[in-house]
Amino acid sequence: MGIRTGQQYLEKLNAMTPHVVIDGEVVSEKVAEHPAFRNVARSYARLFDMQHDPKYQDALTYTSPTSGDLVNASFLVPKTVEDLERRRRAISTWAESSNGFLGRSGDYMNSSLTALSTADEWFSQADPKFGENIRNYYEWARENDVLATHTLIPPQANRSVSGSEQLGGQLSARIVEEREDGIVIQGARMLATIAPIADELLVFPSTVLRGTPEDAPYSYAFAIPNDTPGLRYLCRTSLYNGGSTHDEPLASRYEEMDAVAVFDHVFVPNERIFMLGNPQLCNGFYSETGAGALMTHQVVTRTIAKSEFFLGLASELADSIGIDGFQHIQEDIAELIVDVEIGRALVRAAEVDAALNGAGVMLPKWSTLNAARNWYPKVAQRFPQIIRKFSASGLMALPGEADVNSDARTDIEMYLQGKSLTGPERVRLFKLAFDASVSGFSGRQSLYEYFFFGDPVRMAGAMVNSYDRGPVRARVREFLNRTD
Ligand SMILES: Cc1cc2nc3c(=O)[nH]c(=O)nc-3n(C[C@H](O)[C@H](O)[C@H](O)COP(=O)(O)OP(=O)(O)OC[C@H]3O[C@@H](n4cnc5c(N)ncnc54)[C@H](O)[C@@H]3O)c2cc1C
Repeated sequence: MGIRTGQQYLEKLNAMTPHVVIDGEVVSEKVAEHPAFRNVARSYARLFDMQHDPKYQDALTYTSPTSGDLVNASFLVPKTVEDLERRRRAISTWAESSNGFLGRSGDYMNSSLTALSTADEWFSQADPKFGENIRNYYEWARENDVLATHTLIPPQANRSVSGSEQLGGQLSARIVEEREDGIVIQGARMLATIAPIADELLVFPSTVLRGTPEDAPYSYAFAIPNDTPGLRYLCRTSLYNGGSTHDEPLASRYEEMDAVAVFDHVFVPNERIFMLGNPQLCNGFYSETGAGALMTHQVVTRTIAKSEFFLGLASELADSIGIDGFQHIQEDIAELIVDVEIGRALVRAAEVDAALNGAGVMLPKWSTLNAARNWYPKVAQRFPQIIRKFSASGLMALPGEADVNSDARTDIEMYLQGKSLTGPERVRLFKLAFDASVSGFSGRQSLYEYFFFGDPVRMAGAMVNSYDRGPVRARVREFLNRTD
């Protein structure tokens, strides 16, 4: 089959029968028509459609080595630096179309599956059939253009103990039965973004397992369809308030739902299991297989599009009300330019310094990507601050679309005009600024960029512990010993 159209994606979503809980309601059919999911599902449908658009098809697709069909380029196994560049072009084509606000475009999970599918030797340490299962699953996902999400971390009841120790081990999703034909899972995982509108859920290892036998039931990797019996999603309240694209330009398009994943005796068949019982191996699931590198390559590429968006928005705002000549405004615009350029430089440097791993996969340089993923969550917090600083009370002097189209228009034209924009144009721009810096949607975006790829505190610790500081420390010691 290969690449799907948006219509095919929506039809499949509407045909699924998941158990999605939201605001006191259980949604189990026609998910793509529910007000909380409808618009974002259509934004995802547009991504699928782009694959068929001659303008984007070359960038977004390549020919499947097995079927000869066109498939998404994020499934391309990179063997050369040119392949990595090709993957980046595809990722940035999608990211630029949503200005980086869709954190879970399919290329994120596709990148993970692509790397995992090449890691036969690593999987074979546990069981050769796991390598075969993940390869088959990757090929199936590639050929069917599957949209997957993932869930990794245990519930947050008590972080002073490991997930397997919380409430005597009863909270975290765990294997409660091993059968001839598969395993049974009971418990919960903390979060899965876009869960209601995805096809599949990847339940991959949390990377904080203790390497002890007690953690074996919590050590697994598998994938299940989103409407697997016993799987329930508990959604938060939507951050889209039902407004128009004028009034909620971002939330009305890109409000990606987050949900707790509850497993109530969920059966996982053998062919969908990729790892079982090996806490030590599970802890290396991302670092040892290359999945972490290809996922981070996707994340950094997407976030460049987002930084560019904030640079563009800040520049438009500054010009619209004549503040662009003030020095502190220019200082902030310069900061955004630097962020864009650092992001671009890091992703290019990681590609240029890429190297083949043991499986013959060209992986972007990890230490460079690791620097990017430790850097961006913090600088991204500045973006809404800058927008708020530029806009000030303009974010509150903000009538809605209905007012613009009412008798109030004369006042809006007169009193809300900008230096370079009419009143209605200025209102439209500031609505975007509001949704990017003040709305509930924007708050979630900041939280997302800060945490979704892991706790920055622990990521920093991991970087310090893994970074080879030996040569620079030796240089300092050598300098101290100098007598000249
Ligand atoms: C919007 C959003 C979407 C997300 N989507 C997904 C998703 O789709 N799939 C998925 O698997 N995950 C997802 N996540 C979860 C993400 O991986 C976690 O937020 C991240 O790993 C941090 O874990 P936590 O949220 O449980 O925070 P906690 O671990 O509970 O941390 C809370 C606070 O305690 C501190 N803390 C806790 N433990 C320690 C420790 N051992 N050492 C030092 N400090 C500690 C942290 O620094 C933090 O300040 C998402 C998160 C957000 C915010």
